Amino acid sequence: MTPSKPLAGGWLTIDLGAIAENYGRLRHLVGPSVRVAAAVKADAYGLGMAQVAPVLYNAGCRDFFVAHAEEGLTLRPLIPRDAAIFVLHGPMPGTEEDIAQAGLLPVLNSPHQIAAWRSTARMLDRALPCALQIDSGMSRFGLNESDLTALAQSAESFAGLRPVLTMSHLACADEPPHPANHAQLEQFRTLKQRLPHTLSSLAASSGIFLGPPYHFDLVRPGAALYGINPTPTQPNPMRDVIRLQARLIQDRTIPEGTAVGYSARFIASEPTRVATLSTGYGDGWLRISGGRGAVVLADEPETRLPIIGRVSMDSLAVNITALGNRPLTPGTVFDLIGPTLPLQDAAEAMDTIGYEILTNLGHRYHRQYLPPAS
Ligand SMILES: *Cc1c(COP(=O)(O)O)cnc(C)c1O
Repeated sequence: MTPSKPLAGGWLTIDLGAIAENYGRLRHLVGPSVRVAAAVKADAYGLGMAQVAPVLYNAGCRDFFVAHAEEGLTLRPLIPRDAAIFVLHGPMPGTEEDIAQAGLLPVLNSPHQIAAWRSTARMLDRALPCALQIDSGMSRFGLNESDLTALAQSAESFAGLRPVLTMSHLACADEPPHPANHAQLEQFRTLKQRLPHTLSSLAASSGIFLGPPYHFDLVRPGAALYGINPTPTQPNPMRDVIRLQARLIQDRTIPEGTAVGYSARFIASEPTRVATLSTGYGDGWLRISGGRGAVVLADEPETRLPIIGRVSMDSLAVNITALGNRPLTPGTVFDLIGPTLPLQDAAEAMDTIGYEILTNLGHRYHRQYLPPAS
C-alpha cells in the first residue's frame, strides 16, 4: 500500500468504507427501532472529524456527540442541519449563547447547567432543546438522586427547556459480568422516571454488546465505529479501520554489549540487527512502546519485531535479528498497526487501550483516506 505522497516519515491509512460498514453493523445489531448515534469527539478519535462525520451522515447517522462546544462549532458546517449535535460537557459558563445560536444541543449535567440553559432560553425568548444526563453510578457527569429531588421541588425547573434525550453512561461495559452494569441499568431506569419524558440512551460501543435491555431508544458508539474492539475479551466484531506504517532509514548489526538509543536503555545481549524506522513520539506514536511494542515487515507480516530502547521524537529502533541476513533496502515499509498487528495487540503491548493510541495519532503522518464504496 504505497501512498501517493511518500514524503512523510509515517503513513496513516484510514478506511472510511470500514467506518461506514461498522456503522451498518451496529445498526443491524440494534435493529430498526433504535437510533445509532456517533461519538466524533477528539477529531473523531484522531481519525479526522471533517472526513469521518460526512461518511457517517451518508451511512444514515443523524445524531452526533462531541465533548466540547468548540468541537460542535467545527462539526456544524460539516454535516446537514437535520443532524443533531450534542455537546457532552454541556455549556461552560459564558458559552450558552454561542451554543444556542449555533444550534447545538448541550447535555445538561448539573443543576447549575440546567439553570444556565433556562436563563439563556428566557433571554432569547425561545424554547431551547437539550439533553439531560443522569449519574447512574460512574460519578463523572450527571444529575444524582438528590439533584432530581431538588429539581422536582419547583414546577419551573425545566421552564423554557425542550429536553429531547435523557442519557447516562456505563463505567464497566467492556466487562460484561461486572455487577455495575446491571446496577447502572436499574438506576438509570428508576431515575429517568423523575425527569420529563424523552428518548433514552445508556449504551456506548461496549454497552451495545450487553444486549437489548441496554439499547433503549438511542446508542452512542464511538470506538466500535473506528475499529476498536468493543468486546475486548472476544474476537473483534468490527472491521479494522487504520493501517499505520513507517519506513526503514537504516539498519546495522551491533555486537553484544552495545547500547541503543537515548539513556542506553537497551543493551544488546548478543549480536543484534537493529533497524531505525522513521516514526517517533512526535508523530503520536506513544513513547511507552519502547521495550514493549512490536512492528512487522509489511511483506513478512507473521514475524513480530520488538521495539527496543527509548522511542525518539522522530524515530524508533526495532530488533530485526529475526529477519536473519535478508537484505532490506532503505525505505522498506513496516506496519506498526496493520492486518497482522491489530490495534488491540498494539494497545495491550503498550499497556493502554486503542482509544489512547488513536487519539494520539498526530498530524505529521501522511494521511490517506480510502473512500467508501458508493
Ligand atoms: C465517548 C463517549 C461515548 C462513546 O464511547 P465509546 O466507548 O467510544 O463508544 C458515548 N457516550 C459518552 C457519554 C461518551 O463520553
